[in-house]
Amino acid sequence: MNLKKLVQQRFEEKFGEQPAFVIRAPGRVNLIGEHTDYNDGFVMPMAIDRAVWLAIRPREDGRVSAHSLEMDDPIDFEISNLGKPGQGWGEYVKGVTWALLEEGFELSGWEGVLTSDIPVGAGLSSSAALEMATAMAFMAISNTEWNAPQMARIGQRAENDWAGANTGIMDQMISASAAQDHALMIDCRDLSTQLVPLPPKTSIVILDTMTRHTHTGSGYNDRRNECEAAAKHFGVEFLRDLDKVTLQKNSIGLDKTLLRRAIHVVSENDRVIQAMSAMQNQDPHIMGLFMNASHDSLRDNFEVTNRDLDLMAALAQETKGCYGARMTGGGFGGCVVALVQEEQAERFATEVAADYFNVTDMQPHIYICKATGGTEVVKN
Ligand code: ADP
Ligand code: MG
Repeated sequence: MNLKKLVQQRFEEKFGEQPAFVIRAPGRVNLIGEHTDYNDGFVMPMAIDRAVWLAIRPREDGRVSAHSLEMDDPIDFEISNLGKPGQGWGEYVKGVTWALLEEGFELSGWEGVLTSDIPVGAGLSSSAALEMATAMAFMAISNTEWNAPQMARIGQRAENDWAGANTGIMDQMISASAAQDHALMIDCRDLSTQLVPLPPKTSIVILDTMTRHTHTGSGYNDRRNECEAAAKHFGVEFLRDLDKVTLQKNSIGLDKTLLRRAIHVVSENDRVIQAMSAMQNQDPHIMGLFMNASHDSLRDNFEVTNRDLDLMAALAQETKGCYGARMTGGGFGGCVVALVQEEQAERFATEVAADYFNVTDMQPHIYICKATGGTEVVKN
């Protein structure tokens, strides 16, 4: 059964009537532009055909109450009495409520049922999808127009200041404002966006190495600090402001590690722009080359891959039908994203999975994806 039907059916079983609104909020994958967001640079994610589905009806008593088919514990709280951040999935819903109130929205209550086929913690951003579904629930109930960048900022605020996760705004931006068959180039400096069509007859295949970065590891924060230090050396606020020529000219005296970090960010921003032109020219071959080059730089210059990501990317790149592949997300584990000929995608996935299993004894999860639209109220 598709998730829309499922969530509608469960809603009807519980409340004895049809939901007033059914909301879909997608997960995402980043095609290119990694570790560029916090350097004020460029990223290019797309929304995938895996989503949070939320069926709701209004409530008149100022409460929000919801049940997730994937979770045991339902949530129920009073909008005007949120208390302090706690534990559990409800914190994302509360966090968005809190951030909307902080931004001056007047909120009415709702109740409903949700479900999702975005794997949790695989780097496909189930949390941002849940935040955007929540934001859309409040907008739909009060008949307020969807302002994607504003809702993305609210989602980020919920995640940073309520749920306590230090993340950028890319995930919420793409979930809030994606368009079908398109990726979205986001300039993280001013949040301006540009839709970029996926090359025709291609599939995006996400290959999960099944390895995860340890939360105790400081890799991500180290990289942020290193980028800051490198920017300081070059006398710019962010590495986004550095160009290749200045990078070469003024690199004397800079620690070699910091230099490599800067080379990654400067070249990666460039690759996003080049990949965007390749996509506009409907050229998957060139786009794939930039994806491969991105992986090389993340491995050699930025040093955020692990053995399994390197293996998965190499296996994907060597397998028939693949235009290019790279690690995606923060790194140190997680997924590889590959651009593949559409008619070869199934065979490609089976072959890479078998090869990866042969070497590692780990069975990867594989998602063959289409680029979908962003968060919306789905028509009946
Ligand atoms: P991800 O990379 O998937 O975003 P996070 O750890 O950031 O991983 O967010 C995952 C959290 O989002 C879950 O622990 C849960 O709190 C919430 N979440 C995701 N999917 C669901 C769901 N179907 N129902 C309820 N909460 C969910
Ligand atoms: Mg998340």
